[in-house]
Amino acid sequence: MPYVQEELFPEETVIRPPHPVSWNCWHGCTRISPGCAHCYVFRRDAEFGRDTSVVRKTQAFRLPVQKFRTGPEKGVYKYPPGTLFYTCFTSDFFHPDADGWRPEAWRMIRERSDCSFFMVTKRPERIAGALPADWGAGYGHVEISCTCENQRMTDKRLPVFLKLPIPRKSVIHEPMLERINLRPYLREYADQICSVSCGGESGPDARICDFAWVLDTHMQCVEFGVPFHFHQTGARLRKGDRVYEIPRELQHEQARKAGLEFTGKSLGDL
Ligand code: SF4
Repeated sequence: MPYVQEELFPEETVIRPPHPVSWNCWHGCTRISPGCAHCYVFRRDAEFGRDTSVVRKTQAFRLPVQKFRTGPEKGVYKYPPGTLFYTCFTSDFFHPDADGWRPEAWRMIRERSDCSFFMVTKRPERIAGALPADWGAGYGHVEISCTCENQRMTDKRLPVFLKLPIPRKSVIHEPMLERINLRPYLREYADQICSVSCGGESGPDARICDFAWVLDTHMQCVEFGVPFHFHQTGARLRKGDRVYEIPRELQHEQARKAGLEFTGKSLGDL
């Protein structure tokens, strides 16, 4: 079924997040679970003949603390206070091969406490041993999100992740590969989860995401008053008895038009 805008999500709910800056302090990763099968980092690297399995520090390593060297703003940070850094999106911040570089990355993150940092991991079991010495109850300007693509990974990762001393933690189902029951975790940790986000898979071999799974998670979040975000549809979205092929450039827009954004008010407040 080709993409037909009028049939999929014709109404638009526009919510525009602040424009983030990508900080890929290291690049490369290794696959660890079904969600990694069509990882876009491997796909992009393959186009350039790069070996993704070699994790390497990048030239952008010091990006958040870079300053102007000349001119009227000499000595001022290039990225102003309030900048949101999407951190390590071409690797996993907690990948073991980056253990030697992470302390310096934490030092820069601490230095830029006037900014925000958002990182995503599939390795929550490594977080406790990879936090900086002065982490304490956590850096308030750092959000760490745990990706769980199916029920098995949810039940493996969240019991570890949700116990960690992270003041801003969120959950991502992307690529969402099946219906996922989050209720046990929402019931116990609703006040600690800043958001739950769902998304489909991109790329030529994308697996189908069923809109019914997304709706189900949306309803679980509404039930427990946890903010919900439908991030993007992915390349193949089933809605009812049809599977829609959605061009890359429309996947975010179509998810927005589904109108599932939920800010976290409980049902009783509505
Ligand atoms: S953990 Fe993330 S970056 Fe690493 S292989 Fe899996 S999907 Fe790709």
